[in-house]
Amino acid sequence: MDSNSQLHDSFDRLHLWHPYTSTENPLPTYKVDHCDGAEIILADGTHLIDGMSSWWCVIHGYNHPVLNKAITDQIAKMSHVMFGGLTHEPAIELGKLLLSILPPSMNHIFYADSGSVATEVAMKMAVQAFDNPQKTNFATILRGYHGDTWNAMSVCDPVTGMHGAFGPSLPIRYFAPEPRCGFHEEWREEDFQPMRELIEENADKLAGVILEPVVQGAGGMRFYNPEYLRQLRKCCDDNNVLLIFDEIATGFGRTGKLFAWEHCGVQPDIMLIGKALTGGYMTFSAVAASSKVADMVAKSQSGVMMHGPTFMGNPLACAVALASTLLLLSSPWEKRIKEIERIMKEELAPASDWSSVREVRVLGGIGVVEMKENVDVGEFQKHCVQEGVWIRPFGKNAYIMPPYLAVSDEQVRKLCRSLLNIWSKMYGK
Ligand SMILES: *Cc1c(COP(=O)(O)O)cnc(C)c1O
Repeated sequence: MDSNSQLHDSFDRLHLWHPYTSTENPLPTYKVDHCDGAEIILADGTHLIDGMSSWWCVIHGYNHPVLNKAITDQIAKMSHVMFGGLTHEPAIELGKLLLSILPPSMNHIFYADSGSVATEVAMKMAVQAFDNPQKTNFATILRGYHGDTWNAMSVCDPVTGMHGAFGPSLPIRYFAPEPRCGFHEEWREEDFQPMRELIEENADKLAGVILEPVVQGAGGMRFYNPEYLRQLRKCCDDNNVLLIFDEIATGFGRTGKLFAWEHCGVQPDIMLIGKALTGGYMTFSAVAASSKVADMVAKSQSGVMMHGPTFMGNPLACAVALASTLLLLSSPWEKRIKEIERIMKEELAPASDWSSVREVRVLGGIGVVEMKENVDVGEFQKHCVQEGVWIRPFGKNAYIMPPYLAVSDEQVRKLCRSLLNIWSKMYGK
């Protein structure tokens, strides 16, 4: 199967960079012909059930008629127009809808190009808000991930955040240990102590604290106790530091709530959304801010938010994001994600006793099997393609984040069984 030129393109192998791969000895890439619903169909006709939602964004599945129509209708009007001095219906309607579902404290929206850029914008916003050359730094927690651009990299976990190569060239941030107290565990007061000390000691230098609420994604697939965020909110208020929630991975239902802040009930000052915002049709993100933050920026020396990308508020992205979000809200998403959670818990449970497995954990539409050592991605994926599923492990984790509004119960079961099957073949029980 591996020598099949339909499946592995030699031009691709010789000339195209793929994410986090070597040009000398790249991991295999499989050529996709098209996708439909929860399936990826390869050039040789192999059907794969998608367990990744193409890095967590394709929540409705592929080639969805409603989303296809929203984007093609918009193409017929305009694919793009500058946002400087001009505005349009898709941007306005999307903004209204987002403000109705984001935390009530959110009152202003900045449209950006990708998750990483949203992180940059949020950090710039916080620095501008204080307008104080002393108060320009950030605190975060270990095991986090906020994107691949420069400032985003600086607040990722220095080891698991995949940016170790840039160590000395990145701005130095303040890191507290990752929360240890799990999502379902009883809260332990000492879990927040290191962050409290860090904020209290450095409040005069900190513009903000940025972190992923409840679920840490690409930095380790960890679920932590929501009480941590209640303590953090109070500590930020007491010390005049802005609280930034990065909900790029957790937004739009993935954790079982529409947004993860709902697990703890505390609202951030700035919130980032991306990934599933367009249902995976286009790169797009938004930075939401409270009136307090917007007012602080407006009263700063420059008086304006100093950011304005070429493709800001792109009409195609806004139109498909609007359609995707309406489609989500009109679906029984909450019930469906609960069902998927139940199936994944049931199907993945046997692995929790295996000696090669450190932990199995499931929350909402996220099922994780963590190993004691790193998983061999290339080898794992070869088995996946043979089994007819698409799962891409990273570090010590093999996980399933299916397109929850497209997968059937049977497809979720098949994903889980294949994961365990491959795992036990490669690493034993
Ligand atoms: C994926 C991700 C980002 C970066 O988004 P890109 O669109 O890849 O730039 C930032 N934060 C979190 C939590 C993410 O999961």
